[in-house]
Amino acid sequence: MVNKMFKIALNAGHYLKTSGKRCLKKLDKNETREWVLNNRICDMVEKNLKAYTGYSLLRIDDTSGKTDISVEKRAKKANDFGADIYLSLHHNAGIKGGKGGGIMVYTYLNVDETTKKLQKTVYDKLIKHTGLKGNRSEPLAKADFAECRLTKMPAILIENGFMDSATDVPVILSEEFAFNSANAITEAIVSFGGLKKVPQDSTLYCVQVGAFANKSNAEALVKKLKVAGFSATIKSEKK
Ligand SMILES: [Zn+2]
Repeated sequence: MVNKMFKIALNAGHYLKTSGKRCLKKLDKNETREWVLNNRICDMVEKNLKAYTGYSLLRIDDTSGKTDISVEKRAKKANDFGADIYLSLHHNAGIKGGKGGGIMVYTYLNVDETTKKLQKTVYDKLIKHTGLKGNRSEPLAKADFAECRLTKMPAILIENGFMDSATDVPVILSEEFAFNSANAITEAIVSFGGLKKVPQDSTLYCVQVGAFANKSNAEALVKKLKVAGFSATIKSEKK
């Protein structure tokens, strides 16, 4: 018997040109667009999931960022797909250049226990992996978001920090934050859907990349490798 595929509807909120959805200029001179940040994490989640089996994933946004798919259309695509979960990735605003904020995860107003469990699993893992715990009174929040209202499966909207918070912006712009957020979301999907690792070839191919006389250079390389999706450790030895 073939196991039923766990179906994931994933999307990066908005599109490249959605007006106003960007980092506050005085905190980020590039005014990085929200879609760029949302999409970066979505792409990393998709890449992470390639190590697993037993699922089918549909991106219901335009992954080129060129066209705006309405939230109604996104919900319909997820419903037609028969998704088991719906994840919408966003970044928040509303701090107006002040401090604080942090990660929030939303559900629709009235939801079942499964959706609440999904919300809490994703939130807890995000805080564990990114450390971006903010000062909102209810980081596990409810709102009348159309995409959560119109979808038939457990649906959540993740706000990965505030684009107008002096404390969040430097964090959320970093590749490392996106990487950690994607790992948290991946872990939540894997546990929620009961996904299994793709069996690996038992041979290990180790790569040696050289030695540094300066510890911080070695640490910088390890950090880059981690962001690129590789595991790396430092082993010290005497010259
Ligand atoms: Zn948004």
